[in-house]
Amino acid sequence: MSDDNKKDEVMEKTSDDHKEKEYEDICYVCRRPESKAGKMIHLPMNNSICICSDCMQKSLDTMNNSNFNYSEMMNQMNLQDLFGGPLGNNFMQDPVPKSQKIKKKKPKEEEMPMIDLKNIPAPHIIKSQLDDYVIGQEYAKKVMSVAVYNHYKRVATNTMDDIEIEKSNMLMIGPTGSGKTYLVRTLARLLNVPLAITDATSLTEAGYIGDDIESVVSKLLAAADNDVEKAQQGIIFIDEIDKIAKKKNTTSRDVSGESVQQGLLKLLEGSDVEVPVGASSKNAMVPLVTVNTRNILFICGGAFPDLENIIKERLNKKSSMGFGADLNDKYDKVPNIMDKVTIEDLREFGMIPEFIGRLPIIFTLQGLTKEMLVEILKEPKNAILKQYQKLLSLDEVDLRFDDGAIEAIAEKAIEKKTGARALRSIIEEFMLDIMYEIPKDDNIGRVTITRAYIENTGGPLIEMRGVRALEAK
Ligand code: ADP
Repeated sequence: MSDDNKKDEVMEKTSDDHKEKEYEDICYVCRRPESKAGKMIHLPMNNSICICSDCMQKSLDTMNNSNFNYSEMMNQMNLQDLFGGPLGNNFMQDPVPKSQKIKKKKPKEEEMPMIDLKNIPAPHIIKSQLDDYVIGQEYAKKVMSVAVYNHYKRVATNTMDDIEIEKSNMLMIGPTGSGKTYLVRTLARLLNVPLAITDATSLTEAGYIGDDIESVVSKLLAAADNDVEKAQQGIIFIDEIDKIAKKKNTTSRDVSGESVQQGLLKLLEGSDVEVPVGASSKNAMVPLVTVNTRNILFICGGAFPDLENIIKERLNKKSSMGFGADLNDKYDKVPNIMDKVTIEDLREFGMIPEFIGRLPIIFTLQGLTKEMLVEILKEPKNAILKQYQKLLSLDEVDLRFDDGAIEAIAEKAIEKKTGARALRSIIEEFMLDIMYEIPKDDNIGRVTITRAYIENTGGPLIEMRGVRALEAK
């Protein structure tokens, strides 16, 4: 045989081997693949037919049974047609059944985290990753980066000696639409850890209408695809935490306020919780698993609307005593008064001391200014304006927003008082017409959104693919 022929033969063999690896055997009786049913037993008379050990065992059990009926067994195993007719007739004759194999499923590709939990990068690197998405809120980003760094360092080292590192649970205080949820979401995505977001208002003491407190852990388990190990390193974000403040002057049982705070204590600290798998409530039909919350990072967030007055009152009280007494309204115009929050103020607001004690990292987010809103529109990696530009570029239309238009959008959002949340709804309102009209005419090459268009006093600037530019009506 020539060298070339030999080479061809070897190559053919390796490609056959390769193909072989992509396929797996299936049981002739129950049709389950080897990956599910376990190792297959190849029948000695025909190596291409295999039977899983369960089916083989069942057949042997049938044989051992005193009422053993041979033909019944043959039926069960489909052996008659397997060997091409009744046994003894044309046993071991053609036609030989084809090889029983199915294609193996490809293993799921693991998503690569941007930040490796086992080798967690320094806080300034975590912050710089957050900077790509979250505008402003420098202090919040800094505090969170340090807290997350410490938390996962603690998880990775898992030291349980006499100096136990405290959990870095956090409490974020900031007006609505300032980016609380967005910060947590971004962080969880960068770390590639599961995240569960819950609204504290939906929680009630166990036994009352509403979700019981442990349901937050089942949500996290679901977010981790029921992988307990993964869930135990996840993040739980509880929004609207200010809504579970202790009710003042109430005589009835406070099932959705103080009791929820009490119920959350053991979760925040770290305890074993039995949660249903694949369901939100416990019942006899669903299996339970135990999740330990010791390494789960809890982040609570809320707007705490009346807290400002409590802080002002405290500051006024302090300064109105003695010779240095100040005017009562001295603190009315101080910007970012929320930064001066103390644990006393939160207690006054209605949070119980044990609860605040389990959230050692407390920080505030700023209300968004017009300049910040303008930046949010343009700068982040997935900024809203960039998203629309990309959409229209698929139609080969160049979408532009002039500076006046961007400012006008930000001004409108400020009026709505819902922070950055208002931006999308404002843009969607006027972009609807653009997205509807532009694809009608293939000649349109560029659309520029102007302040006049946002303020309903004019139209966008439309430019045709040539050089002509004309003002739309
Ligand atoms: P809340 O503080 O009420 O939880 P969100 O985080 O839900 O507010 O903010 C709503 C949306 O506004 C986010 O999805 C995000 O797109 C945008 N947003 C808010 N704050 C910022 C910010 N600082 N930087 C970039 N986008 C932001």
